[in-house]
Amino acid sequence: MSSELERAEAELVAGKNGKALRLAWNVVLDALRRKDVEVLRRAADLSTQIAEASSGKDREGAEQLARYAIASIDDIENGTTQPSFWQKVLGKSAIPTKKCPDCAETIKREAQVCRFCGYRYTPSE
Ligand SMILES: [Zn+2]
Repeated sequence: MSSELERAEAELVAGKNGKALRLAWNVVLDALRRKDVEVLRRAADLSTQIAEASSGKDREGAEQLARYAIASIDDIENGTTQPSFWQKVLGKSAIPTKKCPDCAETIKREAQVCRFCGYRYTPSE
């Protein structure tokens, strides 16, 4: 079940940070589908370790993954989801979005009220 996580950990130990990071992404996405907070926590720890052991692009990617895993844990524990964040990470934009002029969060384009700060759109916006 967590064999991919173990492989990622092994790659990091072997100094293959880029490979470890790619495996860690798979682990996080899979754990998210299963809402497996325990695996997400381990993956977040692993991502932080990858970031510390890396530089440049791998470091940025690992830091992003760690933040993402931690945000996902919060989402699962609070019963909320962040589809806009998902879309950004996965490069998909199935749902059209707009940026709230008040709090700068990304929300659905059809939204009349910002779900983050309560900003109300006028019909023309
Ligand atoms: Zn807002």
